[in-house]
Amino acid sequence: MSLLGTGILKGLGVTLKHFVATYVEDFKYIGKKAGLEPRPLRRQNPANHGMVTIEYPKERIVMPENFRYIPFLVKDSATGEDKCTSCGICPKVCPPQCIWIVRTEDPVTKRPVPAPKEFNIDATVCMNCGFCAEFCPFDAIKMDHEYEIASTGNRTRELLFDKEHLSKMDTYHASIHPLDWAREVEEKKAEAARKKAAAEAKAAADARKAAAAAAAKPPADAK
Ligand code: SF4
Ligand code: SF4
Repeated sequence: MSLLGTGILKGLGVTLKHFVATYVEDFKYIGKKAGLEPRPLRRQNPANHGMVTIEYPKERIVMPENFRYIPFLVKDSATGEDKCTSCGICPKVCPPQCIWIVRTEDPVTKRPVPAPKEFNIDATVCMNCGFCAEFCPFDAIKMDHEYEIASTGNRTRELLFDKEHLSKMDTYHASIHPLDWAREVEEKKAEAARKKAAAEAKAAADARKAAAAAAAKPPADAK
C-alpha cells in the first residue's frame, strides 16, 4: 500500500487539516474580539487547533500519548519496587545496543534475583524507537514524554542515565499513557479472574477426588 503513496497522502491530509484549523481558530478569535463568541483564547495558544506559535519555554504543548522519547523504568506504587525483572530482553532488541543491565545476585546463594542491580541507558545513543517498551513482557519500561534533557556540563556523564534517573512511579505512567494504563489494568483484572477460576476449578476437582476416595473406602465395621 505504501508503494501507492497512501502514507504520503495521509500525512498531507493531516497537514492540510492543521492548516485549515489555523484559520478556523483565527475566525473564532475575531468572533471573540467582536463579542460574538465567548472565546477565552488569545490568537496563538497551545490549546488552539491548527498551527500555532507558542511561548516556549513558558508554555508547552501537551504531547500526544504515543509521543516517544528516552524510556523510563516503571516502579510499582504498591511496592515501591521497579517492575523490571532484569530478564534481558530489552538490551537484546535495542537496535543501537544502548541498554546495559546488571542483575541482582543473592548474596548467599549467588543465584540471580529477578531485579536489576544496575540499569543504564545511553541517551546520546537511544533513537527513541520504542522497541524496548514494546517487547518488555512485564510492562516495566515505557517511553517518556520528557524531552528537555540537554546537558549543561559533561555530556558523556550526564546523558548516561542510571537506574535512579530512569525509575518513575506507575502513577506517572498512568498520567502520560492513560490508554496504555487502562489496557494494563484490564489485562491484570482478566489475569486475576483467570487465576481465580483456575483455583476454584482445582478446589472443586480436589473435593470430587476426596469424595470419590471416601466413597471407595470400605466402612471400618466391614473388616
Ligand atoms: S525492562 Fe522489561 S524487558 Fe527490559 S530487562 Fe526489565 S523486564 Fe526485561
Ligand atoms: S527506545 Fe529503542 S534505542 Fe532507545 S533504549 Fe529503547 S530499544 Fe534502545
